[in-house]
Amino acid sequence: MRHEVTFIPGDGTGPELAEATRRVLEATGVEFEWDEHPAGEDVYEAEGNPFPDRTLDSIKRTKVGIKGPTTTPVGSGFRSINVQLRKELDLYACIRPCKAYKGVRTRFPETDIVIVRENTEDLYAGIEFERGSDDNAKLREALAGLGHTIREDAGISIKPISEFGSDRIVEAAFRYAEENGRKKVTAAHKANIMKFSDGLFLETARKVAERHPEIEFEDRIIDNLCNQLVSRPEEYDVIVLPNLYGDIVSDLGAGLIGGLGLASGANIGTEAAMFEATHGSAPKYKGLNKVNPTALMLSGVLMLRHLGEADAADKMEAAIAAVIEKGEKVTYDLKPTRDDPTAVGTSQYADAVIEEMNA
Ligand code: NAD
Repeated sequence: MRHEVTFIPGDGTGPELAEATRRVLEATGVEFEWDEHPAGEDVYEAEGNPFPDRTLDSIKRTKVGIKGPTTTPVGSGFRSINVQLRKELDLYACIRPCKAYKGVRTRFPETDIVIVRENTEDLYAGIEFERGSDDNAKLREALAGLGHTIREDAGISIKPISEFGSDRIVEAAFRYAEENGRKKVTAAHKANIMKFSDGLFLETARKVAERHPEIEFEDRIIDNLCNQLVSRPEEYDVIVLPNLYGDIVSDLGAGLIGGLGLASGANIGTEAAMFEATHGSAPKYKGLNKVNPTALMLSGVLMLRHLGEADAADKMEAAIAAVIEKGEKVTYDLKPTRDDPTAVGTSQYADAVIEEMNA
């Protein structure tokens, strides 16, 4: 079966990583029809819009996309394309597998966890009240009427967590566990302190767990979870978290498995699914054919599974794992030292993965 997929190269090192990934995906033998569209800094400079309508329309139509990273200017400039994408397509579940492949230098070689992060609620909902603003004053006044005093010089961010949002993200975590042969889901929270937001998340998670008796369920307070992940990561399997904790623990997970160059991701929603690396556009390496495409390639593996191409996904993942384990034709970040002269470029790494698949 031929799959139509929206292909977004992105900017910075994105186009090099995306091209390497596309070549490897095609080498699996799965047939793709790529609907290529721009997003990011380059199209912003050319057209004054970093996220043209045609790009969004394509994803809405194909319902599946793979995306290279895109730069978000700090301070002025345009809003994050990733945030726009999540909002427009209601990409509520961010799934980030963190598996330590053999041959990668990590103190945690047993790590094989999957982080499932809620993407739409929590402190990331963008409900913020600037210090000194009229709205801030109105809110503080309303809260004072309810018996809560907030200092006049405070900025305020609101943390909404709903039963609806919690139910669907925990359900997504259990579904992932079932579909991928995982045994346990751990819900992380701070329900002892934030009883009505994290408390609702936990209460809802427990109810969802009852619908999936074949998968073990447990919960952990977030600080305890962080402690345990850097001492006994092998005890964890699928971990589901509200937005902010999920963001932080995702980077922790990338650290456990040997770095950002290896951390893949999927954003899954009701309308569509978008596959992309956890890392950003690493602009200082742009055009140098240098950075590691593994994270985007492993996101491609997730996309293959999403498309029902499990055999091709297994084949591609095994080839990537073999190239990493051999340690010869790998990028600089996977070498013992970063200035190792035997490191290969982005494109040659892709060649090595393709060679391995064809071996
Ligand atoms: P970054 O992830 O782009 O890079 C930080 C450092 O990590 C790099 O300098 C490099 O040393 C290393 N690194 C990252 N990816 C690597 C790879 N594939 N191989 C080897 N090393 C790699 O983070 P940043 O510098 O904070 O962000 C740059 C831009 O990317 C910002 O504009 C940010 O907003 C954006 N960003 C985009 C996404 C996305 O598109 N999904 C995600 C995060 C950040």
